Amino acid sequence: MARGFFNVPEAINEPVKGYAPGSPEREELLATYKAMYNSNIDVPMHINGEEVRTGNTSNINPPHDHKHIVGQYHNGEKSHIDAAISTALAAREKWSNTCWTERASIFLKAAELLAGPYRARMNAATMIAQSKNVHQAEIDAACEMIDFFRFNVQYMTDIFKDQPISSPGIWNRVEYRPLEGFVYAITPFNFTSIAANLAAAPALMGNVVVWKPSSHQAYSAQVIVDLFKEAGLPDGVINVVYGDPVMITDTVLASPDFSGLHFTGSTNVFNHFWKQIGNNINTYKTYPRIVGETGGKDFIWAHNSSNPLQVATAITRGSFEYQGQKCSAASRAYIPASIWSEVKGHLISQAAEIKMGSPENTNNFVNAVIHEGSFDKIASFIDAAKADADAEIIIGGNHDKSVGYFIEPTVIVAKSPTYATMTTELFGPVMTVFVYEDDQWEASLKLVDESTEYALTGAIFSTDRYIVEKASKALENAAGNFYINDKPTGAVVGQQPFGGGRSSGTNDKAGSAQNLLRWTSVRLIKETFVTPTDYKYPFLG
Ligand code: NAD
Repeated sequence: MARGFFNVPEAINEPVKGYAPGSPEREELLATYKAMYNSNIDVPMHINGEEVRTGNTSNINPPHDHKHIVGQYHNGEKSHIDAAISTALAAREKWSNTCWTERASIFLKAAELLAGPYRARMNAATMIAQSKNVHQAEIDAACEMIDFFRFNVQYMTDIFKDQPISSPGIWNRVEYRPLEGFVYAITPFNFTSIAANLAAAPALMGNVVVWKPSSHQAYSAQVIVDLFKEAGLPDGVINVVYGDPVMITDTVLASPDFSGLHFTGSTNVFNHFWKQIGNNINTYKTYPRIVGETGGKDFIWAHNSSNPLQVATAITRGSFEYQGQKCSAASRAYIPASIWSEVKGHLISQAAEIKMGSPENTNNFVNAVIHEGSFDKIASFIDAAKADADAEIIIGGNHDKSVGYFIEPTVIVAKSPTYATMTTELFGPVMTVFVYEDDQWEASLKLVDESTEYALTGAIFSTDRYIVEKASKALENAAGNFYINDKPTGAVVGQQPFGGGRSSGTNDKAGSAQNLLRWTSVRLIKETFVTPTDYKYPFLG
C-alpha cells in the first residue's frame, strides 16, 4: 500500500555505447562473446520459478555458423503448458494486489542491472544466437530493453494520474485493474527487447503471463529470465514455455482464463490467432485483448528535390542493417528517373564497402539471416529475379549457406511497381527499386499507398516543403511510423512510439501508454457523500 503520491525517476534513454577499438566495453563484450560461444547453455522452461527440463531438446546454433552448437532448450508438452497457465493464475492473487510501487521497482532494477552487469551477456547472447553485430545488439538488447522498462514505469504512473472530474458531493475515481485471467505473450526472433517487453509490459500493469519466446531467441530469453529473477520478479508471474508452437497456442487459447494476446510476428500467424480466438469466444470469461504488431513492406519514396546521397544512405542503412530483418527495414523504394543514376552510383559504392560474416569480427556490417527457412525463401526470390526479364539485380545477388545463412545485400531494379519483391515481405537484405518518371510523382505516391497490404514504416525524401506536405497527406495511412528525410528504421522508445496499421498490426505502439492501457481493465468508482432519500425530481412539481 503506497502512503503518498510518488514520483518515479524521470525516464531517460539509455546512452548507446560506441564499442570503439580499445574501449573497455568492447573488450568486455568480445570476451563474453568468446566465452559463451565456446560453452554450452542448457535452457529450461520456467514454470512457477522452477527450471523444467524434459530432455526433449533442440539445439541452439549461431545462424552465422550453423553447425556449431552453443546449447539447447527443452521442449514441453501440453501438460507443461497447462501447468504454466495454472501457475500464472495461482500467482495472480498476490501479484495483482501488490502495490504498483513494488512492480515499478522490479522493472527499474532490471533496467539498472541491464545497464550494468547484464549488458555484455545480453548483447553477446543476441549476437551469438540472433546474429546481430555489436551495434545492432547494443541498440536492441541493451538500450531498447532498458528504455522499455524505464519509460513503461513512467507511462504507468501517467495512466494512474488520469482521473475523471468530480462534482460537488461526489468523488469519482478510476482504478486501472489488471485483466481478469492471464496474458499470452508470443514473441519473434528479431528483437530481444521486444521479446522482453511483450512479457514485461502486461506484468508491470499487474498481469500474470505465459510467455512463449521464438525458439531462435531462446538464448537471450534465458538471460532475460535471469535478469527478471535477479531484479526480484516473484515466481509464477512470467512463465516461459517452449515446444510445438501450434500445440502451445491451441492449449493457451482454449483456456477460459485467457484474457489477452501480446504478439509480435508475421501477419499470417496473427490472423490465424485472431480467427482461433473468435472461434473460442464463448469459452472465455472475458473478451480477450488482442494486440499484434505484424509484417511490413516498408518504403522509401524520393522526390527529385531530394539529395541523392542522403537517399542512398537511407537505403543502405534502412535495408541492410541487421540483414533487413527489422520489421521497420526498407524493402521497396520509388526513385525519380532524374536522380536515379546518382542514387545508384552511391548505392554501388556504399555496398562495395560492406563486409559480411560473423558478428565477432567487428568489421562486419552484415551478418547471417536467422535460419535455413528464411535463407531459402530469400534466395529463391533473388534467383527468380536473376532469371526474370522484369527485374535486374544491380547489387549483390549471391548467397551461401555452407557455413552460415549468408545473403549478400542485394538491390533489384523492378520494371513493374507490382513485381514480386516490390510487394512481398522477404525479411532479408533485399531492396527493390522502382524508377518513376519525374512528372509522375503524384501517381507514384498512389503506388506506394496501394501496392501492398501493409502500413508499418515509410520514409519520404524532399527538400521542397510543399511536396513534403503533399506526400505526408497522400501517405497518411500508408505507415504507422512515418519519416521525413530519414531512414524508416531505428525507432527509439519514448521518442518514436512504434507500430503500424492495415496488415501490419493493431498499432498499439509498443513502449507507450497506449500499449499499457490495453493491459488494464478500468473500474470506475463513484462515491456519493449525502445519499438521496427522495425519489422525486423537482420537475414533478
Ligand atoms: P513468426 O510469425 O514466424 O513467429 C513469431 C512467433 O509466433 C514465434 O514465437 C513463433 O514460434 C510463433 N509461431 C509461428 N508460427 C506459429 C503457429 N503456426 N502457431 C503458433 N505460433 C506460431 O515471426 P518471426 O519470424 O519470429 O519474426 C518476423 C516477423 O515478425 C516478420 O513478419 C516481421 O515483420 C514481424 N515483426 C513485426 C514487428 C512490428 O512491430 N510490427 C516487430 C518485429 C517483427
